[in-house]
Amino acid sequence: MQRRYSNVKFVIDSMLGTLARKLRIFGFDSLYYNHIEDNDLLSICREEGRVLLTSDKELFKRAMKENLRAIFTEGRDEDTLVKLLKLLDIRLELDMNRSRCPLCNSTLIINEREDIKEVVPKNVYNNNKLFYLCVNCNKVYWEGSHIRKMQELIKRVNVKVANSR
Ligand SMILES: [Zn+2]
Repeated sequence: MQRRYSNVKFVIDSMLGTLARKLRIFGFDSLYYNHIEDNDLLSICREEGRVLLTSDKELFKRAMKENLRAIFTEGRDEDTLVKLLKLLDIRLELDMNRSRCPLCNSTLIINEREDIKEVVPKNVYNNNKLFYLCVNCNKVYWEGSHIRKMQELIKRVNVKVANSR
């Protein structure tokens, strides 16, 4: 089956860090800054055609006034993801070949297994075949328990979306 990945890109306000990390793992290009001025968020949104995700009502109103694509959310990440699936033409999928680094939003490449033998704990090395490397910050990832939790999250979100239709 041909899988469809969305081209939707996000810029995310500084209150929504855990959401930004999740969206990156799901493969969405998601800009996030710990400290950024509202004006800068709005110009990134405008210039790069990104969807602004914000929990700041005033910022959301400004974005609406300027005809930018913005979504207001103040719920849990799970509820926000349900909202995104309903409002945008996107699907949640987890394929580490498409994932972005949760820390810096860069793309990941498959890492030669031998190269990281000294980098990761021995049991992790022995229990995993595939390792991924962030091309920007050099952090190494593998399909550990965190990824399984993300897959459970996708299932819950999809059930909620299906039930609300
Ligand atoms: Zn990185």
